[in-house]
Amino acid sequence: MAALRVLVGVKRVIDFAVKVRVAPGGAGVQTQGVKHGLNPFCEIALEEAVRLREAGAAQEVIAASLGTRASQETLRTALAVGADRAVLAEVAEGVATGPREAAAALAALVGRLQPHLVLLGKQAIDDDCNQTGQLLAAMLDWPQGTFASGLQLEAGAVRVQREVDGGLETLRLRLPAVLTADLRLNEPRYATLPNIMKAKKKPLEVIPAAELGVPAGAPRLKVLQVQEPPPRAAGEKVDDVRALLDKLRHSGRI
Ligand code: AMP
Repeated sequence: MAALRVLVGVKRVIDFAVKVRVAPGGAGVQTQGVKHGLNPFCEIALEEAVRLREAGAAQEVIAASLGTRASQETLRTALAVGADRAVLAEVAEGVATGPREAAAALAALVGRLQPHLVLLGKQAIDDDCNQTGQLLAAMLDWPQGTFASGLQLEAGAVRVQREVDGGLETLRLRLPAVLTADLRLNEPRYATLPNIMKAKKKPLEVIPAAELGVPAGAPRLKVLQVQEPPPRAAGEKVDDVRALLDKLRHSGRI
């Protein structure tokens, strides 16, 4: 099988360990001064691509992101984990982007870089849109294997295991194809210090998003309001099961 070129979409998001707070005014979440990092599902997608290259099935892994200049840091992390080169489709600070814009940027990069396989995360943990891979596959008219928990390359094709309600589904997709990574696909590695140093010398190309034809202007999806969940009411102790049943009956729950 000829070695493949793999494009991995990586998104910069608020670090998963940060307690997210609503921004003043409630029109979004607090992002200033908050630790950011690589979206966890993108880490899994990237890990799979790097393993394919290490196994000799892929010849090159390219990490790509749509975002502001700050996303360069995320791409450097992707390079430290093992991507060979990186491309940033850059938008100006304050420009809102969503899955439509991300899919448009990735589709344009597919046109330029001619990968055989695109690997994305199944979802970004900031907006939980969960649709970039599906949109991209539709734009490219490529087969898609979403929520992949296992994959094996075959001659000109990829076999994908997907977790579906009540079991596993196996699909065989002709390449080129778009896959999105589920949690159980693999356990991503950490970037080692020597690899972080090496990543500084790997190529990172910056292309203005407009040059890639990414739709400008207001995104079609607008977040109107973000609210903290209501504080949890304090629990109550009852003496025995009878008292518990009485309470539940009284409050109309049973
Ligand atoms: P979403 O559809 O936003 O839940 O994101 C699903 C996946 O699409 C992510 O895990 C990424 O692989 C990819 N993706 C979404 N937004 C971007 C972006 N701005 N740049 C690169 N990849 C992205």
